[in-house]
Amino acid sequence: IAISNPVPNTDTASTVSGAIHGQALVSRALRNRVKGVDADSCNPGGEDSFFVADIGEVYRQHMRWKLNLPRVEPFYAVKCNPDLKVLKLLARLGTGFDCASKKEMDLVMSLGVSPSRIVYAHPCKAASFVRYAAQREVRKMTFDNAEELYKIKRFFPGAELLLRIITDDTGALCQFSMKYGASLHSVEHLLKLAQDLELNVIGVSFHVGSGASGGNAYVDAVRNASKVFDHAAALGITLTTLDIGGGFCDENFEEIASVLGPAIDAHFPSTVRVLAEPGRYYVATAFTLASHVIARREVPQLDSIMLYLNDGVYGNMNCILFDHQKPVVRVLTHRNRYMYGLPDNCSGHITASVWGPTCDGIDCVTNKCQLPYALEVGDWVYFDNFGAYTLSAATGFNGFNDQCDVIYVCSESGATSLLNK
Ligand code: PLP
Repeated sequence: IAISNPVPNTDTASTVSGAIHGQALVSRALRNRVKGVDADSCNPGGEDSFFVADIGEVYRQHMRWKLNLPRVEPFYAVKCNPDLKVLKLLARLGTGFDCASKKEMDLVMSLGVSPSRIVYAHPCKAASFVRYAAQREVRKMTFDNAEELYKIKRFFPGAELLLRIITDDTGALCQFSMKYGASLHSVEHLLKLAQDLELNVIGVSFHVGSGASGGNAYVDAVRNASKVFDHAAALGITLTTLDIGGGFCDENFEEIASVLGPAIDAHFPSTVRVLAEPGRYYVATAFTLASHVIARREVPQLDSIMLYLNDGVYGNMNCILFDHQKPVVRVLTHRNRYMYGLPDNCSGHITASVWGPTCDGIDCVTNKCQLPYALEVGDWVYFDNFGAYTLSAATGFNGFNDQCDVIYVCSESGATSLLNK
């Protein structure tokens, strides 16, 4: 796959109009799809939930990245959403990829991506996966402990190693530092051990937690990484690479970039290569999920209704449990078809709880929201900003669909031409 580097779009007006065009395309695709589903006669599962993905949104996020963090090479975190069209577009835009397993490496390399564009960003790897990385020449990988160094010495002594350090991730949506990252006290020992084992440590990596709250955590981590560069230099090891991990969100990207970019420049000379592993930032806003109302129950004593969807926390809404999300239920169709026996005042809104399809009580989408009283079986609801950590972790528990359709639209001609190449 040829690497092409489109010029970042600096024209805010056209970016905004691209996003508005994207919303219109998504809305039309949602409506067209549900219009074609007759829940009274479709095959079993014909009314399953589905996604609409605007690939143009991924393209715009990439342009935004290049504009705001031009020095930092994004290596997209595949775990966040391994959708093939997303991966293909990013491959053609020339990004690298953060992979955490054999399967992710295979997926990315099946698109023709060179192993040099992959960072195996997992500090605690299975030995068989390290051997596989050696075989496929995926050289860049992270470590944060001595045992991992012995493992790498045995199975891939030629690897290019990034020492992952701990961060203060207390402000992040999802925290990792209780599980991964070497403390600053241990870095000298680890660098010395790597040196004694004649391993090739090329740099430092960190992750400030997924869904980072602001720029301070990055600035602190950059400062700590520069201390590790100094420790290494004192041992005679020249580090060349800084990997600033993921954590970036759509909402506060410019705010973070405005302090992170200068911090990197202040602490690292331009000869140091800087990578990042963004996941959520690239895909969250690109995907919209639509789900079908399969059952409805009135709870007169609570003056509320219970709605049951055919997707829930064991499916694409696993982000409620794993990613601390609170999805907002939005009405897609509201046909008022069956509820002819209802009282006259049924046109207003009512307190509702919304549930997934499995038999488990934990399968709750929201325990309180306001929805039209007459939202009924056969109607559709949708959830926007649903591209990050959703379809990548859906299960087939209870026999419900773990792999649903994705309908693609594209609001950026640049993305269309790259995908059609
Ligand atoms: N890199 C690593 C090592 C991760 O564990 C993760 C998320 O779990 C990411 C990158 C992506 O993080 P985000 O989606 O917050 O950008």
